[in-house]
Amino acid sequence: MLGALRPSGARRSWWLREALASESGDLAAATPPLSGSITADVVVIGGGYTGLWTAWRLTELAPGVRIVVLEADICGGGPSGRNGGFVTGWWDELPTLVERHGSDGALAIARAIDGTVDKVGTWCDAHGVDAWYTKAGSLSVSAAPAQDGLGEAAVDACRALGVADEFVAMSPKEVRARVASPVFRGGIFMRGAATVQPAILARGLRRVLLERGVTIHEGTTAVELDGERPGLLGAVGAAGRRAPAGRAGRPVRVRTSSALGGGEVIARSAVVGLSAWAAAWPSFGRRLVTWSSYIVLTEPIPDRLEELGWTGGEGVADGRFTLHYLRTTPDGRIALGGGGGRAGFGGKIGPGFTDDLFSVERAAAGLRRLFPSLRDVRIEDAWGGPIDITSDHLPVFASLPGRPIHYGHGYSGNGVAPSVLGGRILAALALERADDPALALPLVGVVPRAFPPEPLRYLGARVVREAIVRTELAEERGERPSSLLRQLSRLPRRLGYHLGPE
Ligand SMILES: Cc1cc2nc3c(=O)[nH]c(=O)nc-3n(C[C@H](O)[C@H](O)[C@H](O)COP(=O)(O)OP(=O)(O)OC[C@H]3O[C@@H](n4cnc5c(N)ncnc54)[C@H](O)[C@@H]3O)c2cc1C
Repeated sequence: MLGALRPSGARRSWWLREALASESGDLAAATPPLSGSITADVVVIGGGYTGLWTAWRLTELAPGVRIVVLEADICGGGPSGRNGGFVTGWWDELPTLVERHGSDGALAIARAIDGTVDKVGTWCDAHGVDAWYTKAGSLSVSAAPAQDGLGEAAVDACRALGVADEFVAMSPKEVRARVASPVFRGGIFMRGAATVQPAILARGLRRVLLERGVTIHEGTTAVELDGERPGLLGAVGAAGRRAPAGRAGRPVRVRTSSALGGGEVIARSAVVGLSAWAAAWPSFGRRLVTWSSYIVLTEPIPDRLEELGWTGGEGVADGRFTLHYLRTTPDGRIALGGGGGRAGFGGKIGPGFTDDLFSVERAAAGLRRLFPSLRDVRIEDAWGGPIDITSDHLPVFASLPGRPIHYGHGYSGNGVAPSVLGGRILAALALERADDPALALPLVGVVPRAFPPEPLRYLGARVVREAIVRTELAEERGERPSSLLRQLSRLPRRLGYHLGPE
């Protein structure tokens, strides 16, 4: 099935190659690397969804504001151009949100995220971005007895808060009527979810920002932010070290590196949207662990999808913690991702996140298990990327104390919809719009619990994650995982982190 396939690595995801193939040469030349010193009102570091939605919102809130976006690779070169394209709300997170913010706060946050799903669709329509936006809902399914009952707490919470229709339990028969996998059992349907071609969305945002006069420097890496530098040692020392506190009114200075040499941007405020790369920066590193996720893409099989009854465009995810997520494409392919990849050390995002054949094979094995009848189907492409995980599995949107530096990351594998809200929040913070309703949401400024310093962070993430993968594999085979595996899997919960199986 896999044949001689290798993960695409730095060669870009299939999504991004498709998106780039349809771009005009003029657009490619519009974002040269930075050299020399420039000024801006807001400098945005990172050209993924967080940075791009922030820049877009800034142009809406304050036309004429001078925005500079710095992107080390190309916009959408990271997870924003590599993800599964699930645009999903947070109804499944409702129990955690209620625990954190009470019923009213939880409902306000879940409604705000839910609204971003439609926002992606209306934004694409308004700006002529054909990112295959399909709002057909998403199914969370149990694919093994050990996964039964997963999500029930969220269904109950939705019912208790008067939003029962948002997350609805389905019988095995109802699930299989939508997608006929022999291993699917009961499930839960989130009607308000959509899918997109993720890279077309990212590159569409870039195009619209250029049309609005935003300056974008691709191939430009921020190497110093207000005196702070990333690095493995920086992450180790993050426990007690912070860059010097800023004086009120002092601008932020970002030093950069590109093929043209060094540069700098001096701005009134900075927004940092670096996802997993933030784990290498002292100010953020202790609150993130990084993990790889890999996607495999089949050849077009529209007839086989019809046989499975999977023609409605729904996204599907199983009940693993190291989730399999799968969706179809307009030309009848299946893209399946799996979170069974590996941990990163000290925020270094190396080839393990993009070139790991072992993780590709794990994802392909997931596809074969969920759809044994597709064993003969060719997998045409595979790629991976890093996931930025916080201790409570929810993103953080906050500002560094005493400095006009605002940041958003930690989407924990669910950033397509939340990054739209993140952009709203970060733009309001950068412009000091205290009256913006987005800033009243109780998640703003909530900083998750820190992880242990390196090398414990890496070792813990690696051992626990592998234990979870092996536990879930054993459960799928109908075996009882060893007591050691089960205890290791539950270690994060025992230590008070909101991660891993209960
Ligand atoms: C394989 C995979 C599948 C996923 N599937 C889904 C899904 O289906 N649905 C969902 O909601 N989420 C999914 N996610 C998560 C989602 O893709 C992310 O949460 C989201 O893209 C984060 O956007 P971002 O802008 O914060 O980060 P990114 O897209 O990672 O952007 C950060 C950018 O910063 C750049 N950068 C790094 N360091 C520097 C520097 N020093 N200077 C300048 N630029 C720098 C990087 O090159 C990168 O482009 C998936 C992620 C992966 C990896």
